[in-house]
Amino acid sequence: MQGELELIAKIRQRAAEVPAPRVTRGIGDDCALLRTTAGEELAITTDFSIEGRHFKLEWHTPESIGHRALARGLSDLAAMGAKPVATFLSLALPKKLTAAMKKEPSWMDRFYEGMLSLAKEEGAPLAGGDLSESSLVVADVMLVGTVPRGKALLRSGARAGDKLYVTGALGAGLLGLRILEGKRKVSVEAETDALHRHFYPQPRIEQGVALRGVASAAMDLSDGLSMDLARLCAESGVAAEVDAARLPRAMEATLAEALHGGDDYELLFTAPAKKRVPKRLRGVEVTEIGRVVVRRKGRATVALVDGKKKTALEAKGWEHFS
Ligand SMILES: [Mg+2]
Repeated sequence: MQGELELIAKIRQRAAEVPAPRVTRGIGDDCALLRTTAGEELAITTDFSIEGRHFKLEWHTPESIGHRALARGLSDLAAMGAKPVATFLSLALPKKLTAAMKKEPSWMDRFYEGMLSLAKEEGAPLAGGDLSESSLVVADVMLVGTVPRGKALLRSGARAGDKLYVTGALGAGLLGLRILEGKRKVSVEAETDALHRHFYPQPRIEQGVALRGVASAAMDLSDGLSMDLARLCAESGVAAEVDAARLPRAMEATLAEALHGGDDYELLFTAPAKKRVPKRLRGVEVTEIGRVVVRRKGRATVALVDGKKKTALEAKGWEHFS
């Protein structure tokens, strides 16, 4: 890529503004070196963010695209109860997006700005990556985190009798998308809230850490409750019931948006009925939304309880933007 050295020098300089206590060597050598300590396990996750599939250049600012690309990976660490150590980013983009116009920062500069501000907030310094030219913007983010050995929150630990919980409120990711598509009209207040949550989702790292030793199973809600809960049930070999009336919804989000919308990045978790689960975790509300039950042949894995009616909750997942 032409001018790559200067671009990397610029990225390196900005990345250095994020404290990196566990990065012995960051950008500049053949590999990054990360410091590990005894008694911990590494948690590693990768996520693609692809133009037209996860974001649109007409809708999303470069800052939001950078933020969202990192938030997806951080949310996966949160789901395991892991803390971030380092971020790696392979970014491919059209040449014109790297060009700075007069004194204006380039699209790429603004993308890094969005990503690195979240990296700084969450302690996830950029320690390496790759840069390439391509006709579409593609960001592949890899995150390395750590969790004390044996303490990671898994999808497979839910047992019949456990209660089911979520953090925060659901539906804003999809409501925000529908507003951008011009498919939904809501109040100004609800629109501001949904768009903010859509553009700048907040990964629940601290909440995940606080759930170690509390949750029996956990995952993050990236594809929507109906689909993600079915995955958790499959891994645990159980079934679940969700109480429609208890679902915490984002402002003016419909029940369907809360059930099937993706991109919320809240945590879904289970805990034994006897376990005391706080009503709030580091400032974020925790809501009991249902229960884990025994899996029975011929019966839906996930059921929705609405008043006296119990129906199978079909997994209608996130279709992204296509
Ligand atoms: Mg996940």
